[in-house]
Amino acid sequence: NPKFLNSIIIPRYVRVNTLKTSVEKVIENFKEKGYKFEENNDDLSNISPKTILKDKHLFDLLILPPNIDLHNHPLYLSGEIILQDKASCFPSFICSPPLNSHVIDACAAPGNKTSHLSAIMQNTGKIWAFDLDKNRLKLLKTLTKKAGCKNIEAIHESFLEANPLDQKYSRVEYILIDPSCSGSGILNRLDHLLDNSSENDQETSENSLKERLENLSEFQKKTILHAFKFPSVKKIVYSTCSIHAQENEHVVKHALEQTDNFILTDEKDIMPEWPKRGIASEIGNDEEAAKRLIRSSPQEYTNGFFVACFIRKSSEKTNID
Ligand code: SAM
Repeated sequence: NPKFLNSIIIPRYVRVNTLKTSVEKVIENFKEKGYKFEENNDDLSNISPKTILKDKHLFDLLILPPNIDLHNHPLYLSGEIILQDKASCFPSFICSPPLNSHVIDACAAPGNKTSHLSAIMQNTGKIWAFDLDKNRLKLLKTLTKKAGCKNIEAIHESFLEANPLDQKYSRVEYILIDPSCSGSGILNRLDHLLDNSSENDQETSENSLKERLENLSEFQKKTILHAFKFPSVKKIVYSTCSIHAQENEHVVKHALEQTDNFILTDEKDIMPEWPKRGIASEIGNDEEAAKRLIRSSPQEYTNGFFVACFIRKSSEKTNID
């Protein structure tokens, strides 16, 4: 029920930038300012003021009450904490490239997931961060510098134009794809589901949404198929902040139909304890495939989000991590 979902207020999530500090140090810092550290009992609907909790799924994520503004907080200004919604931390966490990996972030700006990858890799290896938008890429450079990342090369180019056979990408084993999407999962954009408009308005807006989703999903499909072409790639994480199956399960289904070399990673390797999974009826009624996909919604106290993780099927390159 969209009305119900839109009435849920999600907490303020804080990702600890482990390139600059630790979870313990950040908790200590908040405690010194009068915050109480409490056990996370799964009910995040009513976090008391001046309370800080640890997230249950992500080791580097802390939870604070919803309306707190941290944009002037010294830890934010110094790049020690990053203000990032929980589900948007899933892709880099699921990708988890080991130290010294070579990684492509295909649609990277403004760079929240890039800096998260960089922290997981502890600033080792190399990340090529592509984006088509010059200004957003500039912001990526500023933000990743502030976060202390030293293993990122920003590339102002379409990922679809990157040559998979270029020698410099020969060791790329991990690709993260977070392409342009409708953004329909972002909480304050769920308003579109509450229809107060006339029938005519509705028809026009339904048609334009349909067209927009078709265009987006065509692009999204291309990005995954392009990622499949990189010779050493063994893990590809695809994500959107959309609730529409056209941008999620349908894109994954199409990609799987086009490849003999990649499969979805097993359920046990993709946040098995996470409750909300893909929608089977949107992926050919394949219950097993649906379980291998991640969805999220305000019911889990985060934005609407989707993640799929492809791994190379056989050969010595299947042996991930
Ligand atoms: N991953 C980013 C983060 O976590 O901060 C957010 C990425 S945003 C959802 C999608 C990005 O894809 C936009 O910055 C857009 O400019 C970029 N984009 C669109 N088409 C692209 C293309 N062909 N190649 C590379 N980037 C593209």
